[in-house]
Amino acid sequence: MDKKRVIEILDEIGTLLELTGENPFRSRAYHNGAQVVGGLTDDLEELVQKRTLTSIKGIGQGLADTITELMQTGKAQMHEELRAKVPSGVLEMLRIQGLGPRKIKTLYEKLNIKSIAELREACEKQRLRSLDGFGPKTEENILKNITHLERISDKHLYPEAFESAEKIIALLKQIKGVKQCNYAGSLRRCKEIIGDIDILISASDRARTDIMSAFTKQEDVESIVGTGDTKATVILKNGIQCDLRIVSDVEYPFALNYFTGSKEHNVEMRSLARKLGLSLNEYGFTRIEESKSTKTWKQVPSCNNEEEIYKTLGIHYIPPELRENTGEIEFAQKHAIPKLIELSDIRGTFHCHTTDSDGLNSLDQMTAAAQNLGWQYIGFADHSQAASYAGGMSPAKAREQMKRIDRLNEQNDKFHVFKGVECDILSDGSMDYNDKLLSEFDFVVASIHSKFKMTEDEATKRIIKALKNKYVTILGHPTGRLLLQREGYPVKMLEVINAAADYGKAIEINAHPMRLDLDWRFLKHAKEKGIPIFINPDAHNVNGLEDVKYGVGIARKGWLEPKNVVNSWSVHQVSNYLKR
Ligand SMILES: [Zn+2]
Ligand SMILES: [Zn+2]
Repeated sequence: MDKKRVIEILDEIGTLLELTGENPFRSRAYHNGAQVVGGLTDDLEELVQKRTLTSIKGIGQGLADTITELMQTGKAQMHEELRAKVPSGVLEMLRIQGLGPRKIKTLYEKLNIKSIAELREACEKQRLRSLDGFGPKTEENILKNITHLERISDKHLYPEAFESAEKIIALLKQIKGVKQCNYAGSLRRCKEIIGDIDILISASDRARTDIMSAFTKQEDVESIVGTGDTKATVILKNGIQCDLRIVSDVEYPFALNYFTGSKEHNVEMRSLARKLGLSLNEYGFTRIEESKSTKTWKQVPSCNNEEEIYKTLGIHYIPPELRENTGEIEFAQKHAIPKLIELSDIRGTFHCHTTDSDGLNSLDQMTAAAQNLGWQYIGFADHSQAASYAGGMSPAKAREQMKRIDRLNEQNDKFHVFKGVECDILSDGSMDYNDKLLSEFDFVVASIHSKFKMTEDEATKRIIKALKNKYVTILGHPTGRLLLQREGYPVKMLEVINAAADYGKAIEINAHPMRLDLDWRFLKHAKEKGIPIFINPDAHNVNGLEDVKYGVGIARKGWLEPKNVVNSWSVHQVSNYLKR
């Protein structure tokens, strides 16, 4: 273990001792010890070996033992024990500016706040001001500092990274001498949360200076972390780190494949290559001289694009979204990778809100916007009465909206509007509207919006009871999660999916970029169970309709084909399905 890590752990022990309310002298001794070790000029390893640590001022026997244990075993029992006592989310709260261990201890003990997300909620609900030493101003400051922390953290919502990357690529492609340019990494794999942005570019040697200067001087750059001949790293103003690599045209497909990942997928790719007597890395294929492979390569294969890399390995091309090592290699070996859904397959969408509940645009405006997107239909699902905070519709209002939709459909036979509702699943699993009213809609989205504090069993039962209702069509945002903000309620998702299959229900991919719920990790199971999937933007204004594209990305990541996704069906097919 290196000195830097030892210092970090000593400091963390000091903090953990504070958080667990230990003797303050002991905690101070560890913080102090971290500083002393930091200031050492002698070699730490030598001091440990010679057992002379205690001769240094500020290092007593206890501290010396911990340092020795860390250096010799890579961990310290005391540290592990303390870590087990304090939830990791509590430790994470220390990253919030102006919040020290003492305050965090109070929040944890008095209000049972165990994570930054819970702290944010408590501040928003003004629960901190009931505590001694906390007031409205503290709540306000903490909220401000949480927002700041998120901005500079290493996790970002997909659209934020996507929009930045698209802008950078458009800029770089204009430079003379640039041949190919794309983003790689988790962004290209369409993960719901993105770490940093990786940009790859192939260009003539002469273009390098222009590329580097354009990249580091673009208006969205906040700071430059480093630049070299072929590599540069910047932090963008939205807090996202962005890495640029320049490679040759020959290397480009290999670099794109390598940096797209995932790591696990790459491991499988390399092992396939080895069986053919080849080694594969970000620069290309090379021959393994002492290989036992029966295949002999007169010439090392070169590839013009990623497709040819997969072809050389003798397998079907694998779209980036599937490269998570969840069975895609086996499917590619059998040449059975499905033809995934694309944005151009989408013919309409469902679960949109209007000014009749908490939407910002009217039914007419939303309908016109959907037509402008080239779609053939839209389905509205405003909130039901229990969602009073969201202007949920009374039964009379809902029926009045249905009449308006009927009139719209009479006037326009080229576009169809489906009548729906997002009906609350009440805490006992019953529906917010009675069956008579529910039966009048074309479709019913059943969603949980209240009483989130449930055990896994309670949540699972509540949802499954709702799915049993004859008139429910679609399960809405199945976990209620808000990415990077709120964990969803715990749910036995496989049980829920199986119940949906048993009762003939559909499930939505809520395409709002903060939700992307149902999680893609469960989609393959839903597909195998034959469950129709709706891609629903949960749009609250006309711009929100375009979030459907994020849902398509997640659907692809979940192996879905057009036939699995209701939005790709014709009006006629959809109508028949909803009439069942
Ligand atoms: Zn909802
Ligand atoms: Zn909604």
